[in-house]
Amino acid sequence: MARIEIDDLTKVYDSGDESIVAVEDLDLAVDDGEFLVLVGPSGCGKSTTLRCIAGLEDVTGGTLQFGERDVTDLRGSERDVAMVFQNYALYPHMTVRENIGFGLKLSTKLTAAEISERVESVAEMLGITELLEDKPKELSGGQQQRVALGRAIVREPSVFLMDEPLSNLDAKLRAEMRTELQELQQDLDVTTVYVTHDQTEAMAMGDRVAVMNDGVLQQVGSPEGIYRQPTNEFVANFIGSPSINLLTAEVDGNTLVGPAGFSYRLSDTAPVEGHSTVRVGIRPEDITLTEDGANHATVSVVEPMGNENFCYMELGDHELTARIDPDLRPQAGEEVRFTFDEKALYLFDADSGAALKTKSDAVSPGIGTEVSR
Ligand code: ADP
Repeated sequence: MARIEIDDLTKVYDSGDESIVAVEDLDLAVDDGEFLVLVGPSGCGKSTTLRCIAGLEDVTGGTLQFGERDVTDLRGSERDVAMVFQNYALYPHMTVRENIGFGLKLSTKLTAAEISERVESVAEMLGITELLEDKPKELSGGQQQRVALGRAIVREPSVFLMDEPLSNLDAKLRAEMRTELQELQQDLDVTTVYVTHDQTEAMAMGDRVAVMNDGVLQQVGSPEGIYRQPTNEFVANFIGSPSINLLTAEVDGNTLVGPAGFSYRLSDTAPVEGHSTVRVGIRPEDITLTEDGANHATVSVVEPMGNENFCYMELGDHELTARIDPDLRPQAGEEVRFTFDEKALYLFDADSGAALKTKSDAVSPGIGTEVSR
């Protein structure tokens, strides 16, 4: 087991005349035994970061440390990491037993009996003992993914690296495997970095979540922390489903003046001084439909979710989403009034996107986030 420390990691790909900065000045520490999820849109540099940690890519700048060991210049095979990919690439001609044990046979001096013992213990942990003599083609997608995990676990690495390992599975199985993977990781207590583009998965799984955009780490924090106290508009918008409602508003004294008659009176302490325009964010669950609401919008669609309804509304050219009580079914075309609490409001600098105000005052102590250095 090991703590991972990444300092100032930069990776530039040179392809022809073009240089692509895939990762820029990334500082990140993953605690011993921690499950850290690296999340961000496609192309933001997640896989490159993981591949640099694995030793599959040389870094352009910066250092990588596992525990006390500087591994920056070590080859992947010398780093004691195990990686699980989206494409689990099991050997089709080998049985499950052989697939799981293959790496050990190649890279260790364990005897056949010792390998067999380890493979069986891992198979039991993953609930695939009865499949040990089967070939991959006889297995379901979920079973194949378990074998791929087994192949990684059996090596007893100091660090686990997982690159979208569940994205080939259907939604139900993915949800099941998420929980299984988390339990497994807790039992094994191995430092794990898990890459996904799916923010729901990141929020559900991570002890901490690191959000990247365009090669740059935006924020690292607990799932609740980054949801409630995003460091900027990008993080606020990326995390949460349905997404946060965002609009631009003029600041007139203490009043926010937005599109289509939107107006909101802030308290005196709201941090808008010096800003003529701000970006305003309101989470869908913080909008309340009420007859005495100060603002109004036109309902476009109501989607029943069973335990709640998603109410999509038009505010001029903007679409707003509200999560409302399942008994409330406003009709399409209906004009509704809505309100929200200032405590729930997010405000962002209109130019830089930096957060001016978040839900921080509604958060209990201890959820705090660590903003990227
Ligand atoms: P993500 O995993 O977040 O989708 P990647 O780390 O795969 O993002 O890619 C980050 C950026 O680096 C992208 O612009 C991608 O096109 C580029 N990139 C990744 N691998 C290579 C490569 N081998 N050669 C050139 N560019 C690459």
